[in-house]
Amino acid sequence: MNIDEKQLEQIVRNVLSGMEKEEPKHQLGVFDTMEEALDAVNKAYALFRSYNREQRENIIKEIRRLTHEEAEIMAKLAVEDTKMGNVYHKILKHHLVADKTPGTEDLEVKALSGDRGLTLVEMAPYGIIGAITPSTNPSCTVICNSIGMLAGGNGVVFNPHPHAKRISAYAVDLVNRAVLAAGGPENIVATVKNPTMDTSNMMVNHPSVKMLVATGGPGVVKMLLSSGKKAIGAGAGNPPVVVDDTADIKKAAKDIIDGCTFDNNLPCIAEKECFVMESVADELIDGMQKNGAYLLSAQQVKELEKVVLVEAPAKKPGDKPKLVINKDYVGRDAKVILAQIGVNVGDEVRCIICETEFSQAFVQTELMMPILPIVRCRTFEEAMEMAVKAEHGNRHTAHLHSKNVDRMTAYARAVCTTIFVKNAPSYAGIGFGSEGHTTFTIAGPTGEGITSARSFIRQRRCVLVDSLSIV
Ligand code: NAD
Repeated sequence: MNIDEKQLEQIVRNVLSGMEKEEPKHQLGVFDTMEEALDAVNKAYALFRSYNREQRENIIKEIRRLTHEEAEIMAKLAVEDTKMGNVYHKILKHHLVADKTPGTEDLEVKALSGDRGLTLVEMAPYGIIGAITPSTNPSCTVICNSIGMLAGGNGVVFNPHPHAKRISAYAVDLVNRAVLAAGGPENIVATVKNPTMDTSNMMVNHPSVKMLVATGGPGVVKMLLSSGKKAIGAGAGNPPVVVDDTADIKKAAKDIIDGCTFDNNLPCIAEKECFVMESVADELIDGMQKNGAYLLSAQQVKELEKVVLVEAPAKKPGDKPKLVINKDYVGRDAKVILAQIGVNVGDEVRCIICETEFSQAFVQTELMMPILPIVRCRTFEEAMEMAVKAEHGNRHTAHLHSKNVDRMTAYARAVCTTIFVKNAPSYAGIGFGSEGHTTFTIAGPTGEGITSARSFIRQRRCVLVDSLSIV
């Protein structure tokens, strides 16, 4: 067979582009069984314990570099693997993780010097951490957790969401490639090819795992908090956004749609329901429509309820049936969801909005879809009261568009969330276009809040009596 130069070039191009798309055959840190993964991390941790801060920081630098370099590959793979989210927004999320997750600079040493000598309080590694990660931000959570946990000097075993196992394995491989390139030990971060409840149980109960970190819904947080081990729980949210009559309504409309549609509403911090003062409601809804929102009729709301909510089988005989989200539509494009009720639109529609009562299911349920129910309220106080109830005591995230400082204060006190964003899209709460570091593990239930390296440490005190105080 004769192949000319052009054909040869094309073949090489095809092979290379195929290689780009394929995940590596052998992935570093990815094991067939949880026993193997735990064993490997234990071996790596024995070496990693002697790595100083500079060496750990060099590893983190390399993780940041590779995350930037492979952001697009991971964004595409995450959408392909989970069938959720938006590639462009996921690219932005990976860059955010690479740029704004704190490294070793987050660790602080406290020195107490006085008449009776010198006492140091240092942030020491906790040991091996078992981390459970969600399907909604799979690789971002693996990389964000890895940076913080390795900065703290720990090893990590991940049990990722089974519906995100390919992208999570890719992220574990990336972290290991970075560790090796920076001269670190093999498998300081590990996972299993096929995560299940059994592998999760084994990880949780293994004696070498000293700390547990859950990023996910209420089930997994409850399970880890009942383990008897030190556990950090980052659970579900249902963030309400309130809009009052002092707000810049045009800006509020755009900000809310931008936040609510970011990665198709997958982020746990994204606006999930809106309470607006009656006097500015029409202007807000009009502004939202000008920013890519499709307004449903009351009849269409009923039709959509049947699509995105399903009856969960009763747990016990006699239990009332409960409406839960239809996972087929979580993180899907607005146009895909609208097509289910016979509305055919293009990409210009990025959000579905509707006017509802407070008790309506879209208000009360964390849908994680680009659907925003809007409730009209007579007063700010009424809006605030409803928002607090809709947040369900998750202590997660709330939003406000207002220029009235007294109202900002009152709402912040009443809702008591870990994150409270004012006059910006929800993603400002994780450092996107705002001050402050980022995290993909927001620990409301256990109080660590916007987790970072200092959340994954144990304090140790070193005391020297009557010496080394040099004044
Ligand atoms: P999920 O709760 O379905 O799954 C999370 C992880 O827990 C997965 O790995 C899953 O396999 C595992 N899991 C679930 N129940 C378990 C149990 N009983 N025992 C052991 N493992 C269990 O979550 P998801 O659908 O991937 O993510 C969405 C949820 O996570 C939403 O509620 C969202 O608000 C929340 N979330 C919270 C944060 C945060 O930082 N607070 C971040 C991302 C997602």
